[in-house]
Parts: sequence; C-alpha cells; structure tokens
Amino acid sequence: FSGITASRLQTAVDKAYADFKNLSEGRNADYIPILTETPSNLFGIVLATPDGTLFSAGDVEYKFSIQSISKPFTAALVMNQTSPEVLKEKIGVEPTGLPFNSKLALEIYEKRSVNPLVNAGAIAAVSLINADSEDKRWYLIRQNLSDFAGSELELLEKVYQSEYDTAWSNRAIANLLYSYHRLYCDPEEALRVYTKQCALGVSCENLAIMGATLANGGKNPITVKQVLQKEHVPELLAIMATAGFYDESGEWMAQAGLPAKTGVGGGIVAVVPGKFAIAAFSPRLNASGNSIKAMKAIRQISGELGLGIYGAN
Ligand code: GLN
Repeated sequence: FSGITASRLQTAVDKAYADFKNLSEGRNADYIPILTETPSNLFGIVLATPDGTLFSAGDVEYKFSIQSISKPFTAALVMNQTSPEVLKEKIGVEPTGLPFNSKLALEIYEKRSVNPLVNAGAIAAVSLINADSEDKRWYLIRQNLSDFAGSELELLEKVYQSEYDTAWSNRAIANLLYSYHRLYCDPEEALRVYTKQCALGVSCENLAIMGATLANGGKNPITVKQVLQKEHVPELLAIMATAGFYDESGEWMAQAGLPAKTGVGGGIVAVVPGKFAIAAFSPRLNASGNSIKAMKAIRQISGELGLGIYGAN
C-alpha cells in the first residue's frame, strides 16, 4: 500500500489507539443537547486504502452524527450539479479564521458566506442544490452522502429534533444570508435540510470509505461509482486543507499536514491524496469543536507513516 506494508499500517493504528485511549481531556458538544448523551469514552480509528481495505481499532461501528463532516461532500454535490465556479461565486472558498458558527464572518467578508465548510457556506450549499421540493433536496443530499459512504446512511431522528429545536444561531445565519441574497431557497427549508444532513448517522468505517472515495479520485472503492468528477477532487481537498478545522485550520495543517474535516459529533476524516483516508471518532472536543483524541490519533499516524503532504511531520 503506497510502499507501506499492511502490518505497519495496522501497527500505527493500534499504537495510536493504545496511546490515546485513556485521555479524558475536553467535553462532548452540549449546544445540541442530545450530544451530551453520547458515551464520552468511545474511541475508534480506521485507516482505509483507496481500494477499500480497512485497518481498524476500537469503536469503529458505533453510529454517531456526521455533523460538519457532511459539508465537503455536499459541496461536492454542488460542483457535480453545477461547477466549481458556481461554488466560488455563490458561496466563496476563503477560510474565515473564525469559529464554525460565526455571524461576524458574514459581515466582515463583504457579506460573502465565505466557504462551504463553515455553517453559513454549508447552509448556502444546501440551498444551491437543484431541487423542486424540500423532499427532493433532502433525498439528493442524503443519496450523495450515502454514495460517498457506499452504504445507505440513516437519519438519527433524535439528533435532528434536538438540533432543530435549538437551532436559533443557524436560523439567524440562514436569514441573514437570505437578506444578502446569498441563500438560494427558502431559509427555513435550507435550515431543516442542513440540520438533517448533519444528523445522518455514520460509523468510523463509513467515514473512512467516504475519505477513501476522495483519496481514490472521487470513485467509491466498494461500489466503484464515480461520485465526484476526478478533476474536482483537488479543489475540494484544497478547501478542506484551508478551512476544514475552522479557526484551527492552520494549526492542524502545521501539525498533521493533511486536508481533513471535523464535526462536533466527534468525528474527523483526513485524506492523503491518492493514498489513504484516516477516520477517527471520539466525542470529547476542544474549544474549537474538534475531537481531541481523533486529532491526536490522526496526527500521530500521519507522522509515524510520513503521510503529511508537505513532507514528514
Ligand atoms: N450541525 C452543527 C451546527 O450547525 C455542525 C457544526 C459542526 O460540526 N462543527 O452547529
């Protein structure tokens, strides 16, 4: 596998699991009330090769909400349905350097919604999907995420309800965007479908295959379906590299050297272009909303195997 033996890959995964298993720093997200109920000690790591071979340790089948990790995949659907130029013009690709739910970003960046990996840009991406009804919008988005995973992803209803019932901040973002003509369907519809997208259940194994699809030039290694056109993969990975960790993106890139996306459910997926995907999950987050154990695990594996795209970290 890219010149690295299977046993070395498994050893790196096992070692990261053993090294960080007992860490208890950080806290589950609590602004979505139900996320406090996820057992905080869960921890899983899966490294996938572009042919879909998995190297795993820990709780890799547990289903948690995908949250913001859904964002690059819906941006991919916008690119597929329209073009990367539309994504750039109607949403933007610049990193904000601000938290994922920033409203300030909308004001200071000349009313652009900035990039599809923060809430504003992600809600705008949902609104950009060509669909003549809310059901169709949701169907297309869920189908696309399932195509990346190579498996039907199910809505975690309780997570959806809990987040939608308390979605005042995202509702504000949707309405503000709409007032700036930067949201392209009814704001409440965009909010509902975005919140559902974030409440899809995924396992660490699912996330690894989603990442492997990007590592494999947009073709799912299990179903062999071309989910994202190959020529658009580098553009998507570049946005993940600059904005995947919000206000911690520079720090992450300096440490792990890999494009990646995090979610407040505790998941992270990182992509080594052409070579691997590494997914990890653990619910306790740092102040930027990124999983502490998942970050440490991926960073260590990247370092040990020399996977950082800028050279060995
Ligand atoms: N659904 C979450 C929200 O909109 C996603 C945030 C995240 O994972 N960073 O707040």
